[in-house]
Amino acid sequence: MDLIPSFQVDHTNLKPGIYVSRQDTVGQERITTFDIRMTAPNQEPALAPAAIHTIEHIVATFLRNDPEWKDSIIYWGPMGCLTGNYLIMKGEPTCQQVRELMIEAFSYVVNYDKEVPGTTPSTCGNYLLHDLPMAKWEAKRYVERLKNSFCCEYPGVERPQDATGKQFYDA
Ligand SMILES: [Zn+2]
Repeated sequence: MDLIPSFQVDHTNLKPGIYVSRQDTVGQERITTFDIRMTAPNQEPALAPAAIHTIEHIVATFLRNDPEWKDSIIYWGPMGCLTGNYLIMKGEPTCQQVRELMIEAFSYVVNYDKEVPGTTPSTCGNYLLHDLPMAKWEAKRYVERLKNSFCCEYPGVERPQDATGKQFYDA
């Protein structure tokens, strides 16, 4: 069974929000990849690398310590395009559940006033690439967006192919 959507996300019409990027079956288990989209791609500036790197550290630390959800978190990390993050979870949580979790996680970033966790040469691959004030600014805007104009339906376009006929994927 082909579990990958046959369409490609239309990145010219994509709004900040939370989307189901894909769902997979691994053994007997279902896992869901969420697109935690913070900015409108190609319409707004992407996040600065240092800001999204700091968000990666603080949000990953929050999620993996959350008493309710920590056992469901498989992966959290930034997208290469710097407009959002991928969150891979066990099972099939709803966008609404993840919305509430992300409001908590990003509010934690907004209120964070200590040293960013893991910013030493032994714990991070680029420990000088951090910017807590910009991370907090981006997190505050995203929390407001999640509370106000929440989007969870992808705009789709036909999936392109490369020169050899392979279908294009970005993750
Ligand atoms: Zn790091």
